[in-house]
Amino acid sequence: FRRLGASMDYGRERFTMDDAYIEAVMRFFVHLWERGWLYRANRLVNWCPFHETSISDLEVEHVDVDDALTYARYPFVDGSGSLTIATVRPATILADVAVAVNPDDERYRDAIGKEVIVPFVERRVPVIADERVELGFGSGALKVTPGHDAVDFAIGADHGLPTPTLIGADGRMNETAGELAGLTQQEGDERVVAWLKVHDQLEKRESYRHSVGACSRCHTRIEPLISLQWWCAMEQPARPAIQALRERRVRYHPESQQRFALRSLEEIPDWNISRQLWWGHQQPLWYCPDGHVTCVWPPPDACRECGSAELERDPDVLDTWFSSALWPFATLGWPEQTPELGRYYPGNVNVTGRDIIRLWENRMIWTGLEVMGEIPFTDVIIHSTILAADGRRMSKSLGTGLDPLDVIAKYGADATRYGLLKMSSTQDVRFAEGAIEEGRKLANKLWNVSRLLLSKRAEPVSRPQSLEERWILARIDAVRAEVEEAWAQFDFSPSVQVLYRLIFDDFCDWYAEAIKPRLGESEVRATALAALERLLLLLHPVMPHVTEEIWSQFHVDSPLGRLIVAEWPEAAGTHAADLHAFDRVQEAAAIFRRSGVVVELEDDELRIFAAVVRPERAKTNGNAEAELARLRVEVERGERMLANEKFVANAKPDVVEAEREKLARYRRELDALSG
Ligand SMILES: [Zn+2]
Ligand SMILES: [Zn+2]
Repeated sequence: FRRLGASMDYGRERFTMDDAYIEAVMRFFVHLWERGWLYRANRLVNWCPFHETSISDLEVEHVDVDDALTYARYPFVDGSGSLTIATVRPATILADVAVAVNPDDERYRDAIGKEVIVPFVERRVPVIADERVELGFGSGALKVTPGHDAVDFAIGADHGLPTPTLIGADGRMNETAGELAGLTQQEGDERVVAWLKVHDQLEKRESYRHSVGACSRCHTRIEPLISLQWWCAMEQPARPAIQALRERRVRYHPESQQRFALRSLEEIPDWNISRQLWWGHQQPLWYCPDGHVTCVWPPPDACRECGSAELERDPDVLDTWFSSALWPFATLGWPEQTPELGRYYPGNVNVTGRDIIRLWENRMIWTGLEVMGEIPFTDVIIHSTILAADGRRMSKSLGTGLDPLDVIAKYGADATRYGLLKMSSTQDVRFAEGAIEEGRKLANKLWNVSRLLLSKRAEPVSRPQSLEERWILARIDAVRAEVEEAWAQFDFSPSVQVLYRLIFDDFCDWYAEAIKPRLGESEVRATALAALERLLLLLHPVMPHVTEEIWSQFHVDSPLGRLIVAEWPEAAGTHAADLHAFDRVQEAAAIFRRSGVVVELEDDELRIFAAVVRPERAKTNGNAEAELARLRVEVERGERMLANEKFVANAKPDVVEAEREKLARYRRELDALSG
């Protein structure tokens, strides 16, 4: 960030494990406890057997794996045949508590209410009806194993079924598995399948490709496991945040992300905040021998309920996002009422990637509303993810990554900033080195032209006398408004493109060339420097280094001081009538450069054309008739295309728009040429 020239307050770096920050985390936890939102409950969690901790749904990645689907027959207790279930995890048959069928499934209508015998453990379980059973999967009958599957857990809870678990925290079979205890699940699977074969209850096995959850950090397959965890009820705390988004007091950009963020809050599940890790913020919870829970901060000496001094602190730590959620106010000293908190809360803009809207952004909003009574920021910009040039994700392991420091070393920080802004979009974008090269071209051009203008000193005062001077001031004013508008929408790519056209084409190629013959006049130089001054103000947010350097060359002891603290310019509102004064000259130049044909111009236009285009350098004279004919063909082609309703209706809007612009340009050129 320093190399990019981000002007952050580097003296105030914060880390969520700083002492003051720990204080905030503990106090916030106790606050939630006092609100009555924290509870402990058995839930089916995503368990990573490698990390031996629960992880949130958002940290689970889904990968396709090839498994075997085992079809096993469960005989009816009454001897009336059997029912077949399909499973990818035969070992979990030992923890079955029911077989469920869809109530609409004709095949099993008579089975509902009967009992079947679970293989291997030979336990009797009921056949129940539940519409969550998919008709199309396997045989249509589902073994219900609430201890090891999320859907089964929900079905089991609604039918009042028990939740035996036979897989331990290490991912192996536990003592509930009886003779299979201590085995890996794969060994358990093999033993159960062998049993089915011997008892002629194995119908078939077939290969099966399906998606399973894996830990996003270690890629170990996730074990859905029943585990006692701490939770934060979310319905109440989310309400003010939902309100804030609905009323657009917080706005996500682009709009589609606003809808996603709002929906995520409306459907927010309770938050599993405890983690079984050794690193992190330990929960401020203490248990006495009688099982009372004391939640206070600072640490207590005795149980709040019975006074026992034999307290043991809960070993679990908090989900890392718990402390991150407090960032906007904890970094400013909360719970102390510090001057910083008064001055800097709430903030305004938060910039982030879309993958952490639920993990982080939404949580900062509700925690801020809860303890500060105010939203933490008004706008959230969701930026694009930059992909490698070939469209793959940038990653170290794929070797597709790119070190921004290398890019900065090669092209400079300003060019890198320019290029990244030009690439920015509401979609994912491929890295385009060309955009950064373009930035370097712009910086070089501006630097060279500025050196020319600054070769002789003058006071930057705007006193335009000629057409090109009024025109460039009008252009700068128009671009100022366009850039301001684009930035208000956080729409960065178009803003750097209009700046490029203004600076590279209009200022450097046209204006500077047009005044070159008169640069000896101090009035001309004064106006040029005044125009350059405004240009630097506009470009500074994009290219802070080169603009500051040029600025310093004619503002050594200026009361305006350094560019970085200069005010964004107000609209000048002058010379707007001359905004299009160069249209004809520029068209004439386009025609001349393409065909060598000279369009008839008079007065100022002729003088500017002569100074900028320097037609005397052309080697041959153009053929005006041929150029006229060519333009007529182009105009006709464009008119035909735009008259084609199918094209206008089906082509992308920007393609149609480009055609319209092209046609308008050809028409203008045709007018100019035919006089
Ligand atoms: Zn893991
Ligand atoms: Zn107690």
